[in-house]
Amino acid sequence: MTDSSPILVWFRNDLRLHDHPAFRAAADDGNPVIPVYLHCRDSEGNWPRGAASNWWLHHALNDLSDQLNKKGSRLILRSGKDPEELLNTLMKETGATRIFWNRRFEPAGIQVDTRIKKNLSVTSYRGDMLWEPNQVKTQSGGPYKVFTPFYRALQKLGPPEDPLPEPREWISPSAFPDSENLKDWNLLPDIPWDTAFTDHWDPSCRGAKKQMALFLDEQVEDYKAERDFPEKAGTSRLSPYLHFGQISSRTIWFEAGADSKGTEAYTRQLVWRDFAKQLLFHFPQTSDSPLQEKYTDFPWLQDPEALKKWQQGQTGYPLIDAGMRELWATGWMHNRVRMIVASFLVKDLLISWQQGAQWFWDTLVDADLANNSMGWQWAGGCGADAAPYFRVFNPILQSKKFDKSGQYIRRWVPELRDLSDKDIHEPWNAPHPPQDYPPPIVDHADARDRALDALASIKS
Ligand SMILES: Cc1cc2nc3c(=O)[nH]c(=O)nc-3n(C[C@H](O)[C@H](O)[C@H](O)COP(=O)(O)OP(=O)(O)OC[C@H]3O[C@@H](n4cnc5c(N)ncnc54)[C@H](O)[C@@H]3O)c2cc1C
Repeated sequence: MTDSSPILVWFRNDLRLHDHPAFRAAADDGNPVIPVYLHCRDSEGNWPRGAASNWWLHHALNDLSDQLNKKGSRLILRSGKDPEELLNTLMKETGATRIFWNRRFEPAGIQVDTRIKKNLSVTSYRGDMLWEPNQVKTQSGGPYKVFTPFYRALQKLGPPEDPLPEPREWISPSAFPDSENLKDWNLLPDIPWDTAFTDHWDPSCRGAKKQMALFLDEQVEDYKAERDFPEKAGTSRLSPYLHFGQISSRTIWFEAGADSKGTEAYTRQLVWRDFAKQLLFHFPQTSDSPLQEKYTDFPWLQDPEALKKWQQGQTGYPLIDAGMRELWATGWMHNRVRMIVASFLVKDLLISWQQGAQWFWDTLVDADLANNSMGWQWAGGCGADAAPYFRVFNPILQSKKFDKSGQYIRRWVPELRDLSDKDIHEPWNAPHPPQDYPPPIVDHADARDRALDALASIKS
């Protein structure tokens, strides 16, 4: 007997209609489809969405809602403590008997989904990865902890499945259940970020496609050569769209034509994303604790004043300050600069990677538990495939190498705008150091020695 009752499609970090396997399956099922988004802070575990992410989420939900309205459908918004309770209520109200969703892989999400699956009728579909964690295992059946063999293993699997087109049409119920008002969720911050961020981003699916097209048409071929220079538009800036699922990694992979040599350097980054997700899936503790256990006892300093200076871009190291100010102003920071500011926090300031991860979590529009945890553990030398702790980035040399003429610094640290290309990396050595820019918070050479001593204290 076929079931003719409505289907609830629960949208999570997959706020799009194209390449959405669960939505597509519901549309093809031939019964009424009710798209739903649930806002349950209590089910977000130790990492409830930060302020910048909430800003993005607000706009992404508005956008999805508009897209559905245009097709005669509706996005039903409900909030509460427990997603299972909300789904149960919606099923009672609508007569729906089935829930469709795309799989997700973060620990808190898995916990919620596993419980709901036991009690309600759920069909899950492939999540937003090129290959899901269970598809990629080492020869002994375990997870990979090093990227290169992981990448090789994926290459042996062949290309990921093609993305699915958006359904042309689907059936809607004769009446939709009530929806809450998005504005009442207060996702937009009080500070005037909304205007500032909208100067930098179009947080919609249309924005994602436009950005992808621009990057693939004009920039991807130079990706390998340009990706490390923060002043160039050398990277795709698709990370927030990927995090919120406004575009899928399969779509980008497919559009990039992954087999052509020019794009491999780029599509490889999408595999890093999969790598991070499979790490967090297999080692769920790594959002909070070091993967390499000996780092649990690392003698971090508690230094709120230094932490604040780092957060505010007032360390006296121009490239660090430029990165931290770019982050505050735009909700995003270039990858090379993320690596350098992270290294500076954990090695020069000896402040724990967890405190850095928290700040990024609150301020990045692309804050992503898997990528952020892996990035910070990499910087802290304690994760999978991490930079060894004893390799300490020199913030002055990095600045001279990756922002040679100081364009990036000048953009974000206006106090230094008038310094020469040479002095801008070390303003304290300039003939007339700017009075409104702080002296270096630490001496890098001394800080490096201090970091190495700290490392020696935990070496087994
Ligand atoms: C300390 C630290 C924290 C980070 N936190 C985050 C985070 O919260 N969210 C986030 O999406 N990325 C994070 N990254 C990874 C990386 O910096 C960003 O993904 C990248 O800068 C996004 O810009 P893009 O879209 O232009 O990247 P591109 O270079 O164009 O790459 C395309 C996509 O590949 C993925 N990708 C690229 N580099 C990495 C990487 N190193 N690890 C995992 N995936 C990658 C991203 O989804 C990215 O959008 C972090 C890196 C570090 C060092």
